[in-house]
Amino acid sequence: MPVTDQAFVTLSTNDVYCQGALVLGKSLRNHETSRQLVVMITPQVSSHMRTSLGKVFDEVLEVDLLDSADSVRLLLLKRPELGVTFTKIQCWTLTQYTKCVYMDADTIALRNIDELFDREELSAAPDSGWPDCFNSGVFVFRPSLDTFKYILQYARDHGSFDGGDQGLLNSFFSNWATADISKHLPFIYNLSISSVYTYIPAFKQFGSEAKVVHFIGTPKPWNCKYNPQTKCIVEEESLSGNQHLLFLVHWWEIYTTDILPLLTEQEGLDCTNKHQFGRIELQMKCDNVSSDCAKEDHSDSPSNTILKSCIQETLTVASECYETITAPADLANDDGLDVQPSSSSEQRTLDDHLHGEDLLPSQLSPQPVTEEDSVHMPHVSKSVSELAIQEAEEVLKAEEERRKWEEGHIDYMGRHSFDNIQKKLDRFLQ
Ligand code: UDP
Ligand code: MN
Repeated sequence: MPVTDQAFVTLSTNDVYCQGALVLGKSLRNHETSRQLVVMITPQVSSHMRTSLGKVFDEVLEVDLLDSADSVRLLLLKRPELGVTFTKIQCWTLTQYTKCVYMDADTIALRNIDELFDREELSAAPDSGWPDCFNSGVFVFRPSLDTFKYILQYARDHGSFDGGDQGLLNSFFSNWATADISKHLPFIYNLSISSVYTYIPAFKQFGSEAKVVHFIGTPKPWNCKYNPQTKCIVEEESLSGNQHLLFLVHWWEIYTTDILPLLTEQEGLDCTNKHQFGRIELQMKCDNVSSDCAKEDHSDSPSNTILKSCIQETLTVASECYETITAPADLANDDGLDVQPSSSSEQRTLDDHLHGEDLLPSQLSPQPVTEEDSVHMPHVSKSVSELAIQEAEEVLKAEEERRKWEEGHIDYMGRHSFDNIQKKLDRFLQ
């Protein structure tokens, strides 16, 4: 039964962030939310994009700064840095709903998260950088014009200690850290990709339970390009760590499967010609699942069908992308660090990787999908997490090697002996 007085709310002030909003909205739909979906936009958002948003969201609400009350204009004059922040806190004006869950446009739901509506204002997950603060990318709130007014007054009088909505909201809801533990959402409702590598054992233990992934900071998923020729994701900005790649690929799968057709159908364009993105062939063998799972009759539900194809494609792209994302380790090699084991000419599959053999990402190779394999897909999100863990460990090893080297712990007698470095230099100079 649809619940009409509760909603998931997101925000996009331009067409670029709209791509994230669309993927988020679709991810919530794919997991059959019973709540309304609302996106707040500003006048800059194009009419083309509004039409697409209208196909995913129940409400596309334009929030126009110029129509706002005097107090708002004053606030923005005094505190210009709070522009986007101000737009975000307007979610409290959505009084047609009794309770809402706000989600940043750079988040995706990996499962149904309707249980969040059992929580009270203001519920949020700890920020991974400063856990006594909540992260304002996902929070439960009750729309109220009074609350909106008080937050605005607070912003005008005190500003925001970090210049954005997170600082402002943490100061306003200042007892969040101590008053009521039920308002602390488990971290799995706002898993920031950076924490994947800052606490790998925890990610290993709990990562497969993730319900919401948050692509905090940069690069955002939509700043990556998916190349249909090489079937690789290429990040435009520098790689600060590549462990989030599998969640990124998952984002891209929703984008290519569900959103790109929406964006292109209006113009009648072929997907492959638009934004240089394209669809990919299903070709990865994926039998990393238990036979118990196959016995369950999941196979007929529509969401399961989407999930199956999504995960298969995800795994395909993941294997293809490893070549590209190992760039940081290659750099370390050029510095004289031999951080990777020697490569094998033997063809190996993703299954080997999943089943614990010490494989290099570049040793993964795609295999054809069989009819039988496609029955097994309900374990997909677990597989994605497992791959991310493996990937994170690879990165950690490379980073640890690099750190040791930089701290002067150099293996003069072994890997970093003069002979080895000389050989590497010779290879480089050839
Ligand atoms: N946002 C937006 N336009 C912008 C910047 C941000 O609409 O130019 C919205 C969007 O919903 C975004 C949220 O504000 O997810 C918070 O910004 P962001 O996610 O970039 O911050 P981070 O989570 O990386 O700190
Ligand atoms: Mn965000």
